[in-house]
Amino acid sequence: MNAYSSLLSPIPRVVHGFGDKASLMPERLQSWQMTLPDKKQVHGTAIGWVRRPGEAPGELDGVITDVPGILLTVLTADCLPVLFCRRDGRRIGAVHAGWRGLLAGILGQFAATLDAVGDKPSQWVAAIGPAAGPCCYEVSQALVDEFRQQLPLSAAVIAPRPRHLDLAAIARLQLLTLGFVAVDTIGHCTLCCPAPGPAECLRYTSFRRNSQQRERDPAHPSISGRNQHSGLIMLPDDAAECNAGVDVMGK
Ligand SMILES: [Zn+2]
Repeated sequence: MNAYSSLLSPIPRVVHGFGDKASLMPERLQSWQMTLPDKKQVHGTAIGWVRRPGEAPGELDGVITDVPGILLTVLTADCLPVLFCRRDGRRIGAVHAGWRGLLAGILGQFAATLDAVGDKPSQWVAAIGPAAGPCCYEVSQALVDEFRQQLPLSAAVIAPRPRHLDLAAIARLQLLTLGFVAVDTIGHCTLCCPAPGPAECLRYTSFRRNSQQRERDPAHPSISGRNQHSGLIMLPDDAAECNAGVDVMGK
């Protein structure tokens, strides 16, 4: 069962989901996979519009569209996926925000992209998805210090534990500062969150955890091709809701 945002779910004719290890592409989005833009994420701050299914917009860490029928996703494995939707469901966006992107201001770039077309952040909702949590995401003190110098946020928000970044809290406060008022956090740590069920298995693909395993055992497989997608789509007018896997029981 993939995770969903209670802010995005009520928006009409917009379907979204956050992937996990068992379902890298959220089940509701799978039938739209062929419309996915072929972008390359580079931990940068570039946001680009896409308007044709399957187009190749180059190196982008954020995508935005006003065209129904194009699935937008970002790939993550510890970095933060942030999904955006205008409240009327007429424009959507998805941003890949790791520590580099947050520090370099990718969320501000997304807000600037909205401003360029006359939208205000308050007209949109934002949903922050699963990422490495402050329980596990240990970094150097130098990086924590860099965040404190660059961002006008309190030390307790940036690193609630010594040398442990809280990416979701940083993103949330950045979004609120930019003028977003409806911000949801779907909070599970990708390093330590257990999968539902009795098996000893973790729920998400984690780059950090995988790297640690490979340090101990060089034969351990890499996560290449196993990042999880988080994304959303505006359904085209002629799409039956059941095409996207929405519950149609009783209809
Ligand atoms: Zn954790």
